[in-house]
Amino acid sequence: MKKSLPIILTFLSLLISACSNNHDDVAETDTAVPAIYSKIYGASSITSDGTYITIKTTGLPDHKSVYYATGNSLYENFSGTTFAGNTFNKNPNSISAQSYTFKIPVDPKVATTHAATPLGPIGVSLNGVPFFNQYAGPNQPLTSEATSFDQYWGHPQQTGQYHYHVEPLYLTTVKTSKSALLGFLLDGFPVYGPEENGTLVNIASLDVYHGHTLATTDYPGGIYHYHITSSDPYINGSGFYGTAGTVSQ
Ligand SMILES: [Zn+2]
Ligand SMILES: [Zn+2]
Repeated sequence: MKKSLPIILTFLSLLISACSNNHDDVAETDTAVPAIYSKIYGASSITSDGTYITIKTTGLPDHKSVYYATGNSLYENFSGTTFAGNTFNKNPNSISAQSYTFKIPVDPKVATTHAATPLGPIGVSLNGVPFFNQYAGPNQPLTSEATSFDQYWGHPQQTGQYHYHVEPLYLTTVKTSKSALLGFLLDGFPVYGPEENGTLVNIASLDVYHGHTLATTDYPGGIYHYHITSSDPYINGSGFYGTAGTVSQ
């Protein structure tokens, strides 16, 4: 019996170290998510490893659209105001659920080299729908594509990815306001509406990336942020201000 005591002690210490390793693992993958990200109400999960915020969404708009299947409760024939006074011209695509994983830096930093935004998702809005850039294709302006924006100024592309290239009207007029935080680009910098504290943002006051550094209600200490405005480039200009994270789809 006496001889077995050191064995038991060794076994116990192994157990304890195994347990503490587990705790370390939990701490690494389950860092508290800063409260600001809870504004992304359309996410199916939001986690953090302390370096990146990981946001998973289906990309399905939570508002009505003529691009939902007619049997869907969110289907509604086009009504409302077209973008830029266009005549509405429905595209042939329809909305389908996606599985996006956005990874954005929790502590966004200005990049030394400003990467161009890609076609496809460049950020995530509060309802989980992705932001797309100002192009319909490589360096092709949105002009003709913009005629197919639905009543909330979004539309789906060929594989059913619904997206916003311009002001997401449901967020700015129904869910929040034109001065509100609307989402984040992949570089982690926040995106705001066309107004600042109720006053229309002067486009000339924005830099080439389509943002500026100022205090906002959410960031009283000041932060760089993009503004969505009514003319090209709408959300983001000559690339990301910061170093972009990733999106998988
Ligand atoms: Zn588009
Ligand atoms: Zn601002």
